[in-house]
Amino acid sequence: MAASGARTLTRMNENPSPRVSFVSLGCPKALVDSERIVTRLRAEGYELSREHEGADVVLVNTCGFLDSAKAESLAAIGDALAKNGKVIVTGCMGAEPESITAVHPSVLAVTGPQQYEAVVSAVHDAVPPKHDPFLDLVPEQGIKLTPRHYAYLKISEGCNNRCTFCIIPKLRGDLVSRSAADVLREAERLVNAGVKELLVISQDTSAYGIDLKFAESKFRDHDVRAKFVDLARELGELGAWVRLHYVYPYPHVDDVMPLMAEGKVLPYLDIPMQHGSPSVLKRMRRPASQEKQLARITKWREEVPNLTLRSTFIVGFPGETEEEFEELLAFLDEAQLDRVGCFKFEPVRGAPANELENPVPDEVKAQRYARFMETQQKISAKRLRAKVGKREPVIIDSISGNTAIGRTRGDAPEIDGVVHVTSRRPLKVGEIATVKIERAEAYDLHGTVAGF
Ligand code: SF4
Repeated sequence: MAASGARTLTRMNENPSPRVSFVSLGCPKALVDSERIVTRLRAEGYELSREHEGADVVLVNTCGFLDSAKAESLAAIGDALAKNGKVIVTGCMGAEPESITAVHPSVLAVTGPQQYEAVVSAVHDAVPPKHDPFLDLVPEQGIKLTPRHYAYLKISEGCNNRCTFCIIPKLRGDLVSRSAADVLREAERLVNAGVKELLVISQDTSAYGIDLKFAESKFRDHDVRAKFVDLARELGELGAWVRLHYVYPYPHVDDVMPLMAEGKVLPYLDIPMQHGSPSVLKRMRRPASQEKQLARITKWREEVPNLTLRSTFIVGFPGETEEEFEELLAFLDEAQLDRVGCFKFEPVRGAPANELENPVPDEVKAQRYARFMETQQKISAKRLRAKVGKREPVIIDSISGNTAIGRTRGDAPEIDGVVHVTSRRPLKVGEIATVKIERAEAYDLHGTVAGF
């Protein structure tokens, strides 16, 4: 999972994210609804609060199946009103709003079961979302308004890992991969509809297909295994840019490097590393924490010299010592990552990490965050400057008069930097132009279209 100061480098957390306290009552169907609502809110940058007190709003997903369940729901709403005051009610009891408002007239809004848009909109009204371009994989305007020339391609749901700071597996369950043919057919449809860039997403992209035992499925005239590298290769044949997000550094990720070297897949990897100290990674129970990440990065760069690496990290994880934090800074120095986001650890209700010993005091977290930022910003700026003078393919995202905004192969939409492009000829949105990079700012590049 995923990560200021610098626009694409690191992120200042001065503006805290809005916090929602969530109560989910009832059957598994209600739980699925809760999961969808929470996932949507998390994707929009809301944090989950452990307590009603201090949260910006409380959301109660009610059950109305039995009278006892109704009584329990009404009691939960009453408790939330007493402890917080700002309460939105959804779920089965919301099908009869007066049954709630008659007892609790001060609730902010009541929506019914499966009314995801309505409940999320009620949360927006109560406390607007804070967009974070470093964290949000999904752009601020939501997927449906994604420009026509790029599209998100979700290859699996859920996750088999059990990182101690994360509740996604509890909410979404274990990994469930789509068949390769299903993913490829969707990708093909998107490309046929004009999409020029496919953004592959999931909770753990490199684990794709493990649950299917890598089963084959027929796409066009041949069978394709549900395997990370096979899927990447097939996607690379569709004629669009293919960008891989949420890849963990398992050894088999090495297999995708030749595809990047050949230009089939973008030389870009989004790898949420979260820490550079083996002991902290162990406490986080991170996937691939035993792998030699630095050695792997060095090898990848030998094979794909223009590889852009993006990552996110957490500082102030429970028990993080000064020594472990310095290991993280040394890791940053060694790894020379291009784009990095950083979070101060915050407990998420229900996450096992909350029970770990020796929580790091807030002021220490803040100091470490600042030190992290200082170290990484220099690295990121240096890596961006190294692009000046080069010719880069740039995908054009928007045009205004004689200038356009685009992205190099090293920039994912919404979360990384952009290129400000000048051109003597008219450009089109979605076009991939060759741009001579002339100047680097802290986060963005400037350049001119090469040739006429
Ligand atoms: S358990 Fe770990 S790998 Fe899985 S979604 Fe959470 S942070 Fe990502």
